[in-house]
Amino acid sequence: MKPSPEFSLIQQYFQALTMRRADVIVGVGDDCAVLDNPQDCFTAISIDTLVQGIHFFADVDPYRLGIKALAVNLSDLAAMGAKPAWFTLALTLPEINDDWLKQFSAGLADIANDYQIQLVGGDTTRGPLTITIQVHGHVPKDNLLQRNAAKASDLICVTGCLGDAAAGLQYRLGQLDTTLLTDADIGYLLQRLEMPTPRNQIGEQLVGAAHAAIDISDGLLADLNHILTASNRGAKLDLSALPLSVALQKLPEEVATQLALTGGDDYELCFTATADNVMLIKRQFPGLIQVIGEITDKAGLFFRNAQGEWQGFSEIKAGYDHFS
Ligand code: ADP
Ligand code: MG
Repeated sequence: MKPSPEFSLIQQYFQALTMRRADVIVGVGDDCAVLDNPQDCFTAISIDTLVQGIHFFADVDPYRLGIKALAVNLSDLAAMGAKPAWFTLALTLPEINDDWLKQFSAGLADIANDYQIQLVGGDTTRGPLTITIQVHGHVPKDNLLQRNAAKASDLICVTGCLGDAAAGLQYRLGQLDTTLLTDADIGYLLQRLEMPTPRNQIGEQLVGAAHAAIDISDGLLADLNHILTASNRGAKLDLSALPLSVALQKLPEEVATQLALTGGDDYELCFTATADNVMLIKRQFPGLIQVIGEITDKAGLFFRNAQGEWQGFSEIKAGYDHFS
């Protein structure tokens, strides 16, 4: 079936959306994109879909949605230490809404240009609003950064702050006690939910410096557990070291801790590295890297409780309602 003229217009519209990279031989407009791969790199690929009503609210700001759609994909590249290069966009739209498209594509263009990643193709169809983006990046051939190489006595680090996006989501759902929060705090939490900041600069520097890395999309405990399972190791966490934003510090401590441990959508990185390398990375990114624990030979995930004893996380669940 030939695309309707209005959908053809969209293709025209996306043609010049982002900056042009020298390694894009053929971009939007032909049957395929043709791309020039660097000799000394492998290609890293990842894809994520955002569905209205499941991954975002129907009334979310379309500019922010454009940013988030690419940000969640860039974050996967960051977790592998891959340098962003190209992306494709499959857009399913219920209708042609020029105003929505203008704002959505402006958000997409802004973050794409910030991260030097070029839109090289896509597909446009009619249906319930769904955004699928596939990103391509480059990783050095001699040094892959994966989930499976954490070593005992590695320090466990996270970037930025944890739990903000989940607090923003609770706010949108009317479930957050905002008594102690200012409008600026709430604005900040919503921004963290709707416009995450993928940590690609840090991720690229982790290649050769960290043993294992993952991005935190499902919550710290869940994602750290992926590292532990893949690496066949355990961990001890220092809950008092969890990096909390000014806004989260205003919430009751157990609420903030639970958000930081289990809240999704932060798109920060969690990585493990030797103490020496952690020092070097911290120096490169002042204020952005926090040590929260240590990898152990013994399997299982433990934290020190108020009595100073090591306790498993299954036991903490009983303490905090929201863990279940
Ligand atoms: P074909 O019929 O060959 O699949 P399409 O008509 O789907 O081609 O697309 C024409 C061109 O527009 C292709 O280069 C395709 O990659 C691009 N394109 C279509 N939709 C999008 C989109 N949402 N974003 C970016 N490029 C798109
Ligand atoms: Mg097509």
